[in-house]
Amino acid sequence: MDDVHRLEIPTPFDVGRVNCYVFTGDGLTLLDPGPATGAAYDELTAGLDGLGFDVADVDRVLVTHPHMDHFGLANRVVEASGARAVAHRDATRALADPSGHFADEQVFFRPFLRAMGVPERVGETAVTLPEAYTDYQEPLAVDRELADGDTVDVGVDLTAVHTPGHAPGSVCFVAASEPVAFTGDHVLEHISPNPLLTLVPGTDDERTRSLPLYVDSLERLREVDATVGHSGHGDPVDDLEDRIGEILAHHHDRKDDIAAMIDERGSATAYDLMQEMFPDLPATEVFPGMSEIIGHLDLLEDEGRVDITETDGVRRYSLR
Ligand SMILES: [Zn+2]
Ligand SMILES: [Zn+2]
Repeated sequence: MDDVHRLEIPTPFDVGRVNCYVFTGDGLTLLDPGPATGAAYDELTAGLDGLGFDVADVDRVLVTHPHMDHFGLANRVVEASGARAVAHRDATRALADPSGHFADEQVFFRPFLRAMGVPERVGETAVTLPEAYTDYQEPLAVDRELADGDTVDVGVDLTAVHTPGHAPGSVCFVAASEPVAFTGDHVLEHISPNPLLTLVPGTDDERTRSLPLYVDSLERLREVDATVGHSGHGDPVDDLEDRIGEILAHHHDRKDDIAAMIDERGSATAYDLMQEMFPDLPATEVFPGMSEIIGHLDLLEDEGRVDITETDGVRRYSLR
């Protein structure tokens, strides 16, 4: 693709740089501008300058999913340019009111983590920690809400494929002209994306079954006509189908590892299993770690392989 460029924008997160894609075929379009930091803004404007553009020239900002390393800076770009913001409709609440969304999640996940066996203090730290990161995002009002299958013309037609799992409202943008997909964090070359638990969009009392959703979304992307994935972090995925197969195999193996751990223990809480699988996890990783374990327990539950019992408000899993 001639009219697309990749800018690697710095983030303050462990994941490192985030890829911002710049489309110049029909006006100027940014896909995932980066987090709301001065360093990110400086590198974005310098990168646009290198392509012969100014931030004021931006016509559209596309967002693959409502995580701050990808969308945090979008509002600043919109304010500087009058660009239209485009994202999946399941992402609009988290984008428009990230603090309110986060507060709703805290209310839900505090008791939820306790029910999953997490000690109260550990759970409190896990749900409170993200408050430290709120400076890296600005609320973003979405001008165009996408549904699965909608097309955005950025010089090439990009079709939105809804791929929830890593985040609600995650979309991959599949190009019409070439077998290329812009995959956000749904498929990455060197990282197996975390199936983070979150609230089901539009509710405040129901969590997503993120890993089963993620696995289904991988199967969906495997069916589209794209061989190369331009992902949200790192280099392109050269063989998308192959990489999707690897990620599916990884989850399949891990699910069986977790079933074997339950078998050995007789019964276990999700927290017991997380401690066994990821010993000495830092507090910052407890929520992602629990999301991963619970995701695999959800898969086992969907396959009818586990029984769940509840004693004193704490859920235990045993093999059927
Ligand atoms: Zn993400
Ligand atoms: Zn990311």
